[in-house]
Amino acid sequence: MIETKNIAVLGSTGSIGTQTLTVIRDDESLRACALTAYSNIKLLKEQIYEFKPGLVCVYLPERAEELEAELRAEGILSHDELPEVVSGMEGLLKAASYEEADTVMVALVGMIGIRPTLEAIKAHKRIALANKETLVCAGHIIMPKLKEENVLLRPVDSEHSAIYQCLMGEEPDSIERIWLTASGGPFRGMKASELKDMKASDALKHPNWSMGSKITIDSSTMVNKALEVMEARWLFDVDIDRITPIIQPKSIIHSMVEFKDGAIKAQLGAPSMLVPIAFSLYAPRRPKLKEEPRLDLSTLKSIEFDMPDMLTFKGLRIGIEAGREGGLMPTIFNAANEEAVVLFLEGRIGFLDIADRIEEAMLRIENTAKPDLPHILETERKARELVRSRA
Ligand code: NAD
Ligand code: MG
Repeated sequence: MIETKNIAVLGSTGSIGTQTLTVIRDDESLRACALTAYSNIKLLKEQIYEFKPGLVCVYLPERAEELEAELRAEGILSHDELPEVVSGMEGLLKAASYEEADTVMVALVGMIGIRPTLEAIKAHKRIALANKETLVCAGHIIMPKLKEENVLLRPVDSEHSAIYQCLMGEEPDSIERIWLTASGGPFRGMKASELKDMKASDALKHPNWSMGSKITIDSSTMVNKALEVMEARWLFDVDIDRITPIIQPKSIIHSMVEFKDGAIKAQLGAPSMLVPIAFSLYAPRRPKLKEEPRLDLSTLKSIEFDMPDMLTFKGLRIGIEAGREGGLMPTIFNAANEEAVVLFLEGRIGFLDIADRIEEAMLRIENTAKPDLPHILETERKARELVRSRA
C-alpha cells in the first residue's frame, strides 16, 4: 500500500486542521501540499510561511485577494515558493483534487464538506475524514462511491477511530453492537429547568476536549452524539438500532464493539485528537508521536458508565429518529442544527430552542428516500431558511 506523504488539509486553520499540521510538522516525511481556510488569513499566512504549500484556498474571495497581495508585498517567499491562491467552492474542489496530494484531510466543519469529499474520492485520494456532517447527510452517496472508485477512507472522529481499530482483523458479520461513548458534555446531569438559561459561554466550556465552537455546542446539546450514531451507521454498515450511545464522563474509553460471542473490545487512551488524527494518516503503522498523550492506568482507579438522558437531551433522541427515518431527514436535522447553533452562538435563541428548531424543521420539511446531491443541498437551504425565519 502506498504511504501517506503529501496531504491536502481542508480546514487547516481549525481545531482538527491545526492538530493535523502538528502531526505533519513532527514528521519530516510528511508534507502539507495544500491548505484551506474560510477567512482567517492571518493564521493561514503563518501556515504558508511554515509549510510552503503549492496551493491555498480562502473561501471568501475578497480575503483570498487580500492574502495574495500580502504574500507578494511581504516578499518572504521566493517567486517559486509563492502558492497558487484560489477561493470559493471551486477553490475547495481544486484543493480536494490537488495533483500533488495523495491524501486529503477533510477537517471542514459542516455539510459544506460533502462536495470536496466527493471530489477527493473521484480524484482517487486517500481520505482522512473528520467532517462527520458529510456522512450524516450524504452517507448513502459517499459509501458506494468509495467502493466504486476503490478509495480508502479512515475516520478521524475519536469514537469512529476507536471502532475502526476494534474492528481490525474482525469479520463484519461478527458485530453484535457498537457502544458509542459520550462524555455527556458540560451539562451532563442537568435538567431542562437549569438548561434553559445556559448561554454560549457556558456551553463552550467542555470538560475534556478543546474543539471548534460548532462541535462544542453540539456536545453540550448531545446533537454531536446523534450525528456520530449516523456517522457510525455508514462507516461500519451497522443498523442504527445496534449503535448504542453510552456515557463515559472522562472520555478514556473512545468506544467499544461487542461481538456475537459476547466479547467486547474497547480502545482507550488520553482524550487527545492527535492519536486518531495520526492513526488516520499512518495506519496500520503506529509511530511514536512527539507530543505524547498518555493515559496512566496505574493511577486511573475507575471508569464510570451511565446511560444518556434522552428526555432532557432531546437533540440526541430526535437525531437518532432522523437517522432511522433516513432519506432527507438526516440533512434536515443537520442543516437545522447548523443554523440553530449559529443563532445560539450569536445570542439570538436560547439553549433549548436549538433542539426545538430542529424538531420543527423535521416536522415541516418533507422527506424523500435516497435523495441525490442537488436535492440534499436544496433541502439544506430550506431547513436553514426555516430556522432563520423563526429567529
Ligand atoms: P473548526 O471550526 O475549528 O475548524 C473548521 C475549519 O473549516 C476552519 O479551518 C474553517 O476556516 C473552515 N471552514 C469553516 N466553515 C467553512 C466554510 N463554509 N467553507 C470553507 N471552509 C470553512 O472545526 P473543528 O472543531 O476542527 O471540526 C472540524 C470537523 O471535525 C467537524 O466536522 C467536527 O465535527 C469534526 N470533529 C472535530 C473534533 C475536534 O476535536 N475539534 C473531534 C471530532 C470530530
Ligand atoms: Mg467524536
